[in-house]
Amino acid sequence: MKNIYGLTIDEIEDYFIKMGSKKFHALQLFSWLYEKRIESFTDITNIKKELIDSINKDFSINRLKIVDVQEDVDVCKYLFELYDNEHIEAVLMKHDYGNSICVSSQVGCNMGCKFCESGRRRKIRNLETYEMVLQILMIEKLFGKRISHVVVMGIGEPFDNYDNLIKFFRIINHPKGLAIGARHITVSTCGLVPKILEFSEFPLQINLAISLHAPNDKIRNKIMPISKAYPMKELINSLKKYLEKTNRRITFEYILLKDVNDSLECAEELAKLVKGINCYINLIPYNETNNLDFKRTNTVQIMRFYDILKKNSVNVTIRREFGSKISAACGQLRSKKEDL
Ligand code: SAH
Repeated sequence: MKNIYGLTIDEIEDYFIKMGSKKFHALQLFSWLYEKRIESFTDITNIKKELIDSINKDFSINRLKIVDVQEDVDVCKYLFELYDNEHIEAVLMKHDYGNSICVSSQVGCNMGCKFCESGRRRKIRNLETYEMVLQILMIEKLFGKRISHVVVMGIGEPFDNYDNLIKFFRIINHPKGLAIGARHITVSTCGLVPKILEFSEFPLQINLAISLHAPNDKIRNKIMPISKAYPMKELINSLKKYLEKTNRRITFEYILLKDVNDSLECAEELAKLVKGINCYINLIPYNETNNLDFKRTNTVQIMRFYDILKKNSVNVTIRREFGSKISAACGQLRSKKEDL
């Protein structure tokens, strides 16, 4: 049985029409689910009982199980258990501009980035759309305040679960859904070129972030296997096409890994690579994990790297760190839970 939180407004309209009813009920149902936040279909009062009975028969309204919560001052991490006993995580971050959630898109991940905890376990399956929507809905309920921003940067490669991801965006962006503005939503990919091109046709103004992590193929091949399938040149070309279509600034994420990609030559090369591209670079201090050998670049070197980019007129920021104390880096909480 399908979970109701995975349906877009169009799909619910189709359902009502198929049932011989009127499509305006779809907006009513959305409003019950996402504005009034009912937990049982029987709470609905403005739709005929026979219709409610068939909704009840055709869809489940079940939620996910939260099995662990770890809290720090400005960050909170949630471990969810899914219907097949798999686990995923989502992180709530409190900023001065609002509250954001980092959601997962898959159980495991097939991209195999060498520095990433999530990639240590192969993809088990894609998350269903409702499993992504419920990460937000449930955290918002526990937290009791509105979530204003969403980033798809948790476990998984979102562009490897493209169709469910797109439905997720439509549901959380809809004014009667979670009403999160497209410009407040960001999706991060390690660089699946065909999907970047497809995404450039998607009408919502969602932000795109690219996990770059290297200024050239030689280094990128060593740490990100995807780079062999889609080398730097193809990646950059797809981004130029994306920019032509959307005119939306891209974010490049660049984790600084000690003695791997953090030399000053790398900084110069990176500046050249992004020259002329409407972007900014987010330098990320590496969150070390017990299971992997990579080391974090020290703060002095991070600043030197930053200065070179600045000097070359690149827009650059250093990511504020959340949650290193509570193992909030990509995949770490799940690894702990399952003792991998
Ligand atoms: N698969 C997508 C989204 C998930 S990862 C992608 O690759 O973009 C989200 C970001 O966290 C990526 O940029 C990833 O490279 C980064 N990341 C993974 N492990 C990290 C760690 N230990 N410390 C800091 N950033 C990490």
